[in-house]
Amino acid sequence: MILTYKCPGCAGAMAFNEATGKMECPFCGRAETVETMQQIYLEEEAKAEAAAAGQPESVHIETVDLGMDTMDSASAAVDSAAAAVSIEHTDDRQQGEEEQIKLRSYTCSSCGGEILTDDVTAATFCSYCGNPTLIAEQLTGQRRPARLIPFAIQKDKAIEGFRAWTHKGILTPNTFRSKTNLEKTVGLYVPFWLYDYGVLVNYQADGQIITHEIRGDYRLTHTDHYDVHRKIHAEYDMVPADASKAMDDNMMDCLEPFNYTAMKAFEMPYLSGFYAEKNSYTDEEMAPRVKSRVADFGEQHARGTIKGYANVITKGKDIRMSLKKTEYVLLPVWVINYEYKGKHYTFAMNGQTGKMVGVLPVSKAKAGIMFGSIMAVLTGILTMIGGVF
Ligand SMILES: [Zn+2]
Ligand SMILES: [Zn+2]
Repeated sequence: MILTYKCPGCAGAMAFNEATGKMECPFCGRAETVETMQQIYLEEEAKAEAAAAGQPESVHIETVDLGMDTMDSASAAVDSAAAAVSIEHTDDRQQGEEEQIKLRSYTCSSCGGEILTDDVTAATFCSYCGNPTLIAEQLTGQRRPARLIPFAIQKDKAIEGFRAWTHKGILTPNTFRSKTNLEKTVGLYVPFWLYDYGVLVNYQADGQIITHEIRGDYRLTHTDHYDVHRKIHAEYDMVPADASKAMDDNMMDCLEPFNYTAMKAFEMPYLSGFYAEKNSYTDEEMAPRVKSRVADFGEQHARGTIKGYANVITKGKDIRMSLKKTEYVLLPVWVINYEYKGKHYTFAMNGQTGKMVGVLPVSKAKAGIMFGSIMAVLTGILTMIGGVF
């Protein structure tokens, strides 16, 4: 089932406003809280259910298997879904696998147009009338996120940020900076798992203290060795791992930190006016990735307590971890995709803090004029990370 939150005043499609934290109608300006809109929706649903009791299911869902060759034309036909679909190309895990994308078809509740999505899309827009549309079955039951961080940075601020940032790359092609390209920025709620781990670290090292002494013509060096042992118990809460197939893992790590105190209990209206994806991986599937991060935290934590030695050389370590809790959440990310000379680039901005990450494409023509090709390659591979806010 798909749904659009309709304005109680004029029946226009309401969308979440990042600045006010409320649902707003773009037609008559009416604003309501997320809770009120969810309440209205539940009441309407109950009414509809009562009225439709015994009626056949009217929603039409079909699943089509398409090879990658036909995918491009399919996504081109669904212009508004193209942004969400095209970032599929960046994932390492997909390479080499047989790429099959299941398309689903829904009927827009406002204009009756056909809405095509892939099988992870949870929030999108109707490509005919542009109304924000939620795919309810991707967000309910087992698939219901526990919490989310709402977008705090508005789209025009995100675009401004991307534009300012591209000026740091003097070799960035002009077409990337163009208004039409920057307007393709989309707000995406990315599925994440948050893990709470308890960690016990047993760490042994050789701590060295070095002293020098001059005796006549000789310079003597004494090295004292100390057996250093640290036993540390630490708790690491809410360590994130993105559970999206489309988003690059390292890129998502670079967007951290998020401020989790701004987390809200999940309600569907928050997603209205954004794209959203459901998780492609379970918490168990993502756990190995998080465990190695947590092990590093634990080891660094233990080493960080050893002070006053010239050298600290690891002799042994034993790291034990126990998983205490996982939580399924959605985190806000502004995304812009860019094709340049057959290569695909993705830029992302933390939708809460404005921190940006991505690799700027390099225009070879510009580079030739300005620096010569070696310099261009070096500049091109520099990953620029930095916020503008
Ligand atoms: Zn209205
Ligand atoms: Zn429509």
